[in-house]
Amino acid sequence: MDPVERIKYLKKIINKNSYLYYIKQNPVITDSEYDIYFRELINLESSYPYLKEIDSPTNRIGAVPSDEFNTVKHINPMLSLSDCFSEEEFYKWYDRNAKIINEKNFEMISELKIDGLAISLLYENSVLKTASTRGDGTIGEDVSSNARTINSIPLVLNHDIQGTIEVRGEVFISISEFQKLNHEREKNNTQKYSNPRNCAAGSLRQLDPSITKSRNLDTFIYNIGYSDNNSIIPRTQSGRLAFLSKLGFKTNEHHHVTNSPKKTIEIYNDYKVKIKELNYLCDGIVVKINNMDYQDEIGELSRTPRWAIAFKYPGNKALTQIEKIEINIGRTGTINPIATLKPIEIDGVIIRNATLHNENYINKLDLMIGDWVNIERAGDVIPKVISVDKNKRDGSEYKFKFPINCPSCLDPIKKDSSDAMYYCVNTTCSSKTIRSLEYFASKNAMDIEGLGPSIIEKLVSKSFVVNFADIYKLTQEDLLQVDGFKEKSANNLIASIHKSKSKPASKLLVSLGIKHIGVEISELLLKKYKSITNLADISYRELLEIPQIGPQIASSIVEYFTKISNINLLKELILLKLKNNYEELNTLFSDNITNKNFVITGKLNKFSRSEIKSTILKYGGYSSENVTNNTDFLIIGESPGSKIEKAKKLKVNIINEIQFLNFLK
Ligand code: NAD
Repeated sequence: MDPVERIKYLKKIINKNSYLYYIKQNPVITDSEYDIYFRELINLESSYPYLKEIDSPTNRIGAVPSDEFNTVKHINPMLSLSDCFSEEEFYKWYDRNAKIINEKNFEMISELKIDGLAISLLYENSVLKTASTRGDGTIGEDVSSNARTINSIPLVLNHDIQGTIEVRGEVFISISEFQKLNHEREKNNTQKYSNPRNCAAGSLRQLDPSITKSRNLDTFIYNIGYSDNNSIIPRTQSGRLAFLSKLGFKTNEHHHVTNSPKKTIEIYNDYKVKIKELNYLCDGIVVKINNMDYQDEIGELSRTPRWAIAFKYPGNKALTQIEKIEINIGRTGTINPIATLKPIEIDGVIIRNATLHNENYINKLDLMIGDWVNIERAGDVIPKVISVDKNKRDGSEYKFKFPINCPSCLDPIKKDSSDAMYYCVNTTCSSKTIRSLEYFASKNAMDIEGLGPSIIEKLVSKSFVVNFADIYKLTQEDLLQVDGFKEKSANNLIASIHKSKSKPASKLLVSLGIKHIGVEISELLLKKYKSITNLADISYRELLEIPQIGPQIASSIVEYFTKISNINLLKELILLKLKNNYEELNTLFSDNITNKNFVITGKLNKFSRSEIKSTILKYGGYSSENVTNNTDFLIIGESPGSKIEKAKKLKVNIINEIQFLNFLK
């Protein structure tokens, strides 16, 4: 491994993921994966100090504030915390500090490490003046209006404090509020938050304070960042917590002062169990040296204080063994390797399978069947294998041979260079057929009520259904031969199949399962070419001339329509009276929507993306991906992206969902 190249790679991956985590609130890797990269970078930079550059993420805190917020310069930097995961590492931290202050029985205070986001609250003459996020540690985002909606943040202090005092703490959402919110989002078809931390960050970093208010955020305050009047501030951390509580802040009751590392480790172990009973998430304890004089003596590094450490609990990980690897076939024919695990419990859930993504992922991990592996479950994400414990190998492990044929239909599989995935390209493969039929009947496609995965499987196994057209040829007699069907349920299913025939052609086009064709592209193509069958005559070049269509979409459309079997299936569906021709949807009119061009950014609460786009279409409006001179409105949801800046520059009207809903009245 070339350290120069590896450092370059690690910096790139850490920077990208920090942005997704801190600014977009949309992490795509787990915290422990991020921590593994971060630690590897720290280790490499300490082995090759001449390769450590000023711009390294190991010198930085959080991320530069988003330009959607006004900024606030912190009086003193808001630092991060260095962390440790084992008793050995904790002792190292303790011994180093004991050496600096030349004292062994010094007091340490253990507090819970609340898994939320840091906030700074600045009071002038006891009145809340500004609230800001940590940002990059020096400059934070101004979230004052949002913070004022949080009940546990006092707008005026209980005691008269003259001049400036700035306090710091954590904003979080309780587990019950988080679950309630996600439940509602699921009902409304809005994307769910992956965990309470992202949810708290997304809820505080809102452009519309009424959304923050509706989220019932909470706080624990644990520090004083600055005071004009130092003489009133206690000189121990335990004293500061009591002082903060007197001023009216909510402080966390779980804190303990000890004077030996052994007792601190007991507290760490105690809380590993106790935190499971709490209604908020904690990812460890924070151990701080209690006495401020010692803190001053020990000092700070550029990113973290040396007098405190986050003694973290391992994430939702577990060590278990791979029993076998099986292949799951997706609706587009993707060949997905899934690990069958020796069952193991993580956070009360029994985990039996984990995703291995693709062949490259297995090779990168150097994974063998029989290996002991660390698996992780984060939020709603399917558990995944994150590393292999090669020390546990006893020679009985063996390599997984990635198939060269589809395990279901035995046809050769093909690799797609664009996404490193293998695909089964056989259109009659039964596993692929089942997945594609499930998709065809699903809510976002033909929406055939009652035609769920288990019924589809039974229908395919009895050969009643082989392709989409067969669904429309099902009779009551057929269904009565299928397990679980009685006269009434058979009639109901036939009725809902029949009802789906009135779905517009754009839905049928989506349902065909052509790679990359969703609702929007489907509407766009049909509006332009007027029928699904017309698409068969459109060339790759011509498709590429449409601004919204790139090479991937264009080639998947062309590939679909060059197959005679697909054309025949389409013809059959049309004969069965499914809609092929585009019907103008703009039967409705709105001054603000008809003929207007909309761009959407951020997470919406009232609509899913496809719902708002179809509503715009229904009223004769258009939606585009990018803000340009032709954009009439930018609709913003939660955590909007950089489009907002562009819209401001181009003087595009910026509205939220409620304002959009008013256009429909
Ligand atoms: P951190 O969360 O590990 O620890 C520092 C923070 O702890 C402080 O800023 C403070 O907000 C908080 N804290 C909670 N309780 C506290 C208490 N009682 N006393 C003092 N502080 C307390 O560090 P960080 O810099 O905020 O974030 C880094 C971590 O974020 C990484 O270790 C990783 O787990 C996660 N991360 C994940 C991704 C991803 O893509 N998944 C990307 C970036 C960061």
